[in-house]
Amino acid sequence: MPLTVEIVTPEHVVYTEDGVRLVKAPGAMGELGILPHHAAFVTTLQPGELRIVKESGDETVLAVTSGFLEVRDDRVVILTDAAERAEEIDIARAEEARRRAQERLQARDTAEVDLARAEASLRRAAIRLRVAESRRRRPQRPSTGPPPVE
Ligand code: ATP
Repeated sequence: MPLTVEIVTPEHVVYTEDGVRLVKAPGAMGELGILPHHAAFVTTLQPGELRIVKESGDETVLAVTSGFLEVRDDRVVILTDAAERAEEIDIARAEEARRRAQERLQARDTAEVDLARAEASLRRAAIRLRVAESRRRRPQRPSTGPPPVE
């Protein structure tokens, strides 16, 4: 039996699909690969890339921030502060967030800077940019029309 996957943020249900063959998630202790018939467990997530592969071969990549992942009875539930599909990521916004965080980190000696907060913000921005970039390298859905004009 394939997996059912649900991704929920405080704002909305971001993703809910069945027929999933594999979930790759950024677990707190490293990357997790979850296949059907996985033993029940719960873990925390760190900000990173979440990859969902359907039985059809369709793949969805999302940027997630911190949260929890639970597996039980072929159902994977991900509760996270934020999750964006690659195509939903506002690249300019992430670049701006990265720039702000870098500025704060550079000003660490001269200003009151919350280093942990700036580092976390930098990490989120870097992940968003990486996920958005992975889409440009490899389109998520096979195109049925003519190739895009570059
Ligand atoms: P920013 O400083 O740009 O708000 P952030 O890392 O502080 O970035 P979060 O607190 O992680 O943002 O997210 C707040 C909300 O904004 C979430 O709903 C998240 O999905 C969304 N969000 C944040 N950055 C982006 C982005 N670059 N593209 C699309 N949505 C984003």
